[in-house]
Amino acid sequence: MKFRIALVPGDGIGPEIVQAAAEVLKLVAGKFGHEFEFNTYLAGGSALDKYGIPLPQETIDGCLAADSVMLGAVGGPKWDQVPNNMRPEKALLGLRKALGLYTNLRPAAIQPALAEACVLRPDIAARGFDLMIVRELTGGIYFGERGRNEAGDAAYDTEAYSVMEIERVARRAFETARKRKGHVTSVDKANVLETSRLWRETVHRLGETEYPDVRLDDMYVDNAAMQLIRDPSFFDVVVTSNMFGDILSDEASQVTGSIGLLASASLGDSSRGMYEPIHGSAPDIAGKDLANPIATILSAAMMLRYSFDLAEEADYIEKAVADVLEEGWRTADIKAPGQEDWLRGSEMRDKILQKLV
Ligand code: NAD
Repeated sequence: MKFRIALVPGDGIGPEIVQAAAEVLKLVAGKFGHEFEFNTYLAGGSALDKYGIPLPQETIDGCLAADSVMLGAVGGPKWDQVPNNMRPEKALLGLRKALGLYTNLRPAAIQPALAEACVLRPDIAARGFDLMIVRELTGGIYFGERGRNEAGDAAYDTEAYSVMEIERVARRAFETARKRKGHVTSVDKANVLETSRLWRETVHRLGETEYPDVRLDDMYVDNAAMQLIRDPSFFDVVVTSNMFGDILSDEASQVTGSIGLLASASLGDSSRGMYEPIHGSAPDIAGKDLANPIATILSAAMMLRYSFDLAEEADYIEKAVADVLEEGWRTADIKAPGQEDWLRGSEMRDKILQKLV
């Protein structure tokens, strides 16, 4: 099969890690008889330096013309003083908007070889977990009406959701569950919030009419925050609103123990998605060959699974990463205390490539 992939490396370690993921994709394409065409575009601080804006039209057009987008990360101290509307991070929101991406998928799984890095109690970590948070991305309180009273001593933010907004993210959650263990937990605060009651009703109606094969349960957000630490193995797919998802996905990623391992996807109505590691541009280690490429390589695997429907190829990449970790290879960010034979970023990339040939 033939696919066009837009590469948007961004700033800091972005170019190093996106390059590593592109090499993995090229190798997998050759192995499975696909053709991936790559085009590279600027965004963030690098675009600001060259074009004077963080998201040039050329980048938007290139991403819209592609079958999927691979993003590194944007931002860094060099651009901390630029006016708010020119900040490198504006490129992220601009791309999400231009591509119509309203759902964020964030997996959090414990790599068995890295159970010691997990912050949970050893008996809980030993049970393992592999969950996917499906977060609504363009609605809710972050986008609702807000303001202050005249005196400036009171403020409000508004949470609002329509049935359409809830249905489309819930549909993505049910579809995702069908590719996994077939279990969705819908997280809300329906004991207090009216938006949550509409959320719950809508998710259940959709589940009963269109996805009766998927197991559906509900959980209040405060309980979900607790269960993620007490027994994360309970979860398969978690679907929730923008704000609850923001908080729970950071919590879930922290319990795995390493930011350098976690991938993410943003999706909309079409199969085109934007795939990126959850970490930032790590300016402190940029150019030093210290960046762990695994999160970006796993984001590439997600692209194959969710945008191109190439599950076997995605499994193949994920297994290569798991095998390298199983053999004890580590980059500096995930090495055991005192471990001296750790790999530089390019060496980790090469170890993974060797597994794929
Ligand atoms: P960060 O994620 O870039 O770095 C946090 C820490 O984790 C640093 O010590 C860094 O060295 C380390 N780290 C991150 N990724 C790593 C990797 N792959 N391998 C090894 N170590 C890694 O977060 P920050 O320092 O808060 O932000 C730096 C810049 O990135 C800021 O300008 C911020 O706005 C931006 N940022 C961008 C995105 C994005 O593009 N999606 C997300 C978060 C932060």
